[in-house]
Amino acid sequence: MTAATRARPHRDGRTRRKPQRTCIACRQTRAKHELVRIVRDTAGAVAIDTTGKRSGRGAYLCADAGCWERGLRGNALEHRLLLESPLSREDRGRLSGEAERVLLERRKG
Ligand SMILES: [Zn+2]
Repeated sequence: MTAATRARPHRDGRTRRKPQRTCIACRQTRAKHELVRIVRDTAGAVAIDTTGKRSGRGAYLCADAGCWERGLRGNALEHRLLLESPLSREDRGRLSGEAERVLLERRKG
């Protein structure tokens, strides 16, 4: 292995290579790919980011209906995404519907 291919050491001393993220509902830390990303894009629109690559501020929830219910119920999402106003009921409904589809896809593998 050359120096160029070696993983950069983490400042906190962890050597795990897989990026880890925390679910905003249950606070569990999981591998990023196991979680579903919600992104607030530069226009301020909040949507589920199935690619995990969209730019904007992101929040993560487990691929678990219970976590989505909890995550959309309170203001954790607003807090995490630094939204200026709370999500509307329509927004929550839309995200919850999108999440249902994404979770179904995830289960199928
Ligand atoms: Zn969770």
